[in-house]
Amino acid sequence: SSERSLNFIEQIVEEDIANGKNEGRVHTRFPPEPNGYLHIGHAKSICLNFGLADEYGGKTNLRFDDTNPTTEDTEYVESIKADVRWLGFDWENELYASDYFDQLYDFAETMIQKGLAYVDDSTSEEIAAQKGTPTEPGTNSPYRDRSIEENLDLFRRMKAGEFPDGAKVLRAKIDMTSPNMHFRDPIMYRIKHAHHHRTGDKWCIYPMYDFAHGQSDSIEHITHSLCTLEFVVHRPLYDWFIDKLAIFPSRQIEFARLNLTYTVMSKRKLLQLVNEGHVNGWDDPRMPTISGLRRRGYTPASIRDFCDRIGVARRENMIDVGLLEFCIREELNKTTDRVMAVIDEKPLKVVLTNYPEGQTEIMKIENNPEDEYVTERDVPFSREVYIERDDFMENPPKKYFRLFPGGMVRLKGAYIIKCDEVVKDDAGEITELRCTYIPESRSGSDTSGINVKGTIHWVSVPHAVEAEVRLYDRLFTVEDPSGEEGDFKDFINPDSLQVVRAFVEPSLAHAQHGNALHGGRFQFMRKGYFCVDPDSTEGKLVFNRTVTLKDTWAK
Ligand code: ATP
Ligand code: MG
Ligand code: MG
Repeated sequence: SSERSLNFIEQIVEEDIANGKNEGRVHTRFPPEPNGYLHIGHAKSICLNFGLADEYGGKTNLRFDDTNPTTEDTEYVESIKADVRWLGFDWENELYASDYFDQLYDFAETMIQKGLAYVDDSTSEEIAAQKGTPTEPGTNSPYRDRSIEENLDLFRRMKAGEFPDGAKVLRAKIDMTSPNMHFRDPIMYRIKHAHHHRTGDKWCIYPMYDFAHGQSDSIEHITHSLCTLEFVVHRPLYDWFIDKLAIFPSRQIEFARLNLTYTVMSKRKLLQLVNEGHVNGWDDPRMPTISGLRRRGYTPASIRDFCDRIGVARRENMIDVGLLEFCIREELNKTTDRVMAVIDEKPLKVVLTNYPEGQTEIMKIENNPEDEYVTERDVPFSREVYIERDDFMENPPKKYFRLFPGGMVRLKGAYIIKCDEVVKDDAGEITELRCTYIPESRSGSDTSGINVKGTIHWVSVPHAVEAEVRLYDRLFTVEDPSGEEGDFKDFINPDSLQVVRAFVEPSLAHAQHGNALHGGRFQFMRKGYFCVDPDSTEGKLVFNRTVTLKDTWAK
């Protein structure tokens, strides 16, 4: 990172440090609302907040922004903590905005006492109408000039539960003609008789985002409060409340949110996909959630690398999901063993007619040619092997280098074979190939003098381990499903999951999800990178395709 130039946030931080602001302290926070699972967009924010603190010897709080009781849940709190830890970050303090409810309430009374807030009986429709439009000024509420005493009394009675939901709100008294709509007497508190996942039934009034976020930052003495660009228009209000309350001046800095092609990132939409059964849960490997990516086979390092490469900017943009795939492919190419898996509902059986019946030979096959010290493993070979149907053609075109009648191919790490006969059933379907092997062509000690252009993978029939393979494709058929006209769900890819049978080499028989051996991740030769899915059991292996070997999506 010393190679690249400072991004605009680092520039601000360095300027602040140089000016002795906050005694040179850097204290950031990651403030998720516990109303869903974290997604790759949150990963960008996590890497940014924790990364900035690391870089300048600072600290990062994990703060749950739990001011909306109806959508929040402890299930989400637990998943968020697990995901942040998995990404490799450790927070200074685990905090909850709800722990500040008493303090925030006191702040609100202070605002009333200063004549800067009032209780409004207008309905939400009336308040919306009073707001005016961006080109026309708003109008004052008829309740705007209540006395401080009356406002205090009403606000206390709101807190005491005397009024039903929606009967009253507390509003800041700023300026109904301000060109910034957020300054037109924004709502600070609303009545909501709802159970909160932490405070239970203690409260029936809850602060709005604008009267909770900046104040929480300030209570924690956060120096740099990073958020996404849609909050630019909230910043004057963020500063106004801090100024009027005369509390620690945290500074809000906005950056462009991550948008990724072929997916959606809003938690509301992700929740719909889960609830309506378009995916199998938040951790479905097709989801852009951290838990989905983890299950898909992504590593924390690959996600951090991705966040590093996209950097931070102040302009909205759309990142090609191909970049995320590039990052995991780069890593898996270095770390995974190359193994053989015949992925085919109906693999093609090859019988080597001149190979002794009942004999097993052990082939030594390289695990990973990228390793500094390349190791090998034992792969059994016998008279009958499976190959993929796609690796044989009865009537091949020119320059077809795989197997065809009369043709020759090398079985990876084993022998060259020649196809002598195609056996079919009554329906004309090919049931097996009868071939001969060239004994002098054994890999590593080939004296046959025969040159073949094609090498294909195989699995010995008596040693093969059956497995289920889940092949994933993009969840949506268009780059920006949220940007299209109509419902984003109209663009769900109906073929985003394909479940296929496979036969894998016996070395994988005991592979486990997330075990020490690179977390159950492999390169299936010629097929892509795969990982063991947690659905696997001792008797039934399940693999997810993390990513194909090459970008098949090149435009
Ligand atoms: P959503 O619209 O999905 O509900 P949110 O911004 O309301 O997202 P929060 O839980 O409030 O979700 O987000 C926590 C932090 O992560 C915030 O600081 C937010 O700005 C940041 N964040 C959320 N989505 C993205 C994204 N796509 N790119 C970068 N940062 C994001
Ligand atoms: Mg939200
Ligand atoms: Mg939010």
